[in-house]
Amino acid sequence: MRILVFNAGSSSLKFGVFDLQPGAALEQAAHVFKGSFDRFGADGCDLVTGVDTRERARAPHRTLAEAIAAVPALLDGAAIATPDAIAHRIAHGGTEFTAAAELTLEALARIERLTPLAPLHNPANIEGVRVATACWPDVPQWGVFDTAFHLSQPARATTYAVPQAWRDAGLRRFGFHGTSHKYVAHRTAGALRTDLRDLRLISLHLGNGASVCAINRGQSMDTSMGMTPLEGLVMGTRPGDLDPGVFGFLQRNLGLDIDTIEAALNSDSGLKGLAGSSDMRDVEARAADGDSQAQLAIHVYAYRARKYIGAYAAAMGGLDALVFTGGIGENSPSMRRRICDGLEFMGLKLHHDRNMAIDLADRAAPQIQAYGARVQVLVTETAEQLMIAHEVATARADALPAPPPIPVAVSARHVHLDATTVAALFGPGYTLTPGKPLRQPGNWAAKERVTLEGPKGRIERVAILGPLRNRTQIEVSRTDSFALGIDAPVRQSGDLDGTPRVRLIGPAGSIDTDGLIIAARHIHMHPDDAARMGVADGDCVDVNLSHAARALTFAHVLVRVQPNAFTEMHIDTDEANAAGIGSATEGEIVPEMAVTALAPRSAS
Ligand code: ADP
Repeated sequence: MRILVFNAGSSSLKFGVFDLQPGAALEQAAHVFKGSFDRFGADGCDLVTGVDTRERARAPHRTLAEAIAAVPALLDGAAIATPDAIAHRIAHGGTEFTAAAELTLEALARIERLTPLAPLHNPANIEGVRVATACWPDVPQWGVFDTAFHLSQPARATTYAVPQAWRDAGLRRFGFHGTSHKYVAHRTAGALRTDLRDLRLISLHLGNGASVCAINRGQSMDTSMGMTPLEGLVMGTRPGDLDPGVFGFLQRNLGLDIDTIEAALNSDSGLKGLAGSSDMRDVEARAADGDSQAQLAIHVYAYRARKYIGAYAAAMGGLDALVFTGGIGENSPSMRRRICDGLEFMGLKLHHDRNMAIDLADRAAPQIQAYGARVQVLVTETAEQLMIAHEVATARADALPAPPPIPVAVSARHVHLDATTVAALFGPGYTLTPGKPLRQPGNWAAKERVTLEGPKGRIERVAILGPLRNRTQIEVSRTDSFALGIDAPVRQSGDLDGTPRVRLIGPAGSIDTDGLIIAARHIHMHPDDAARMGVADGDCVDVNLSHAARALTFAHVLVRVQPNAFTEMHIDTDEANAAGIGSATEGEIVPEMAVTALAPRSAS
């Protein structure tokens, strides 16, 4: 499934295209294209595109809407086909959007009603959805909400101790960066080869915005951002935790109104308020040059994060792993060290060299704890777009109607002949007579029959299936191979090198030829059915024949997707007898096995 992801901010637009199978591991997703538009202005914006190479250019687009409208041409230029779904990152889903949701008109109206909770972000997100709908009217639009991951939090973590009337009006903690925290939690569990449900984990997302999340056995238990993204850690331009008493103080003593205070808390506080720059690189450089304001900013920043680590370890009753992500978490070894300094008492200690030299390429998640430290510490790049694509692929697959049952047909012994063999059996220039058409388009059973002969016996009146092939192939059951006295291997059609020889006898002569196999079970699959069932050509699936008289599940069935195929599973007569099938039945793909890659389990 191909998913186009949009992350629309107030002054930038990021997008990415992912190919992924619903239900498959995150690591298996392919990032096929990405781009970002930045710094919209009257003279256009900066554009960066490309997955492996980053191409930078100026583009004429002045607004988010113009940028989104330019994406179809960019995808065309990169030969990327129309996506199956478009996924939008939505900042605020309130308490109602608990998971990825299809953005119907009704859903959009509900998101719009949440605008007071995210006045800067939700309107930009909604505009993104509207423009994308106009560009791709036939492609479903989905939303993934930054708040959704945190809806698992207990009331004790989400409740502000304020009057009931305020709480009734909607005052509560929500938390943000949910997609990022969820991704790094999964990545951490993967890197540690541990089930996420066995981990008490703290995720530190330190970018321009910053938040920390206590993820207790896979579920968000608490997070530092609250009703708005102002609460919690020190950020680029936001202060994080603040005594609400400052509002009254500022109003009474400085004469500032609410709008002015809020603007300063959003845009002029945090690192910028402390050290004059919101960029940690500047602040660290100035601190290294002896600037005392920058040094204080770094101390406040690290101290706040350290306090949260202690608090969340206490909230979870212990800590197994800590993961750093975001521009600062990924790139600043000195900030990681400062944050972790003094936490040895709880088993958390960094390894100096490992912390200094990490390589995050290819979604790596290196460990940087000291040898023997009880708490594992990891660093990894966040991949919010990938997580968004994954959530939508999974939700779409869940929303689709149950996959149709697969007709199961029993293949009795038969042969496919090449021209030389036809000539040897029926005489030079002979043409087989097409009889009954088969269900796979273009295939038929010939009116003629042949005899098979092996050292132990003969099998008469064996069907010939047309049209002619480049190489003769004889398909029998294990029982037939015993009757012939030839040990035939189980093979996929066409895989004939090294197969045993058998004698074919026709009315005009006989020929000894290799190509004797027991056909491995397989499913011919139409591409539309493959999409509906979430499988791809070459996948290996398990199929449950629950309606058969001796119901059983056939494992490791190869899926062969072909443009005009009639979707049908083929088994041989021995397999049919084992399942107690007369002529035909239906089977269902066992869901959790539906996307297992073929390679390690191929029948041969
Ligand atoms: P956003 O939250 O906007 O996605 P990022 O995750 O890119 O932001 O993080 C931006 C922050 O990361 C900035 O403060 C930037 O200075 C910081 N950063 C990036 N590289 C480094 C570095 N090498 N050392 C310290 N800080 C860095």
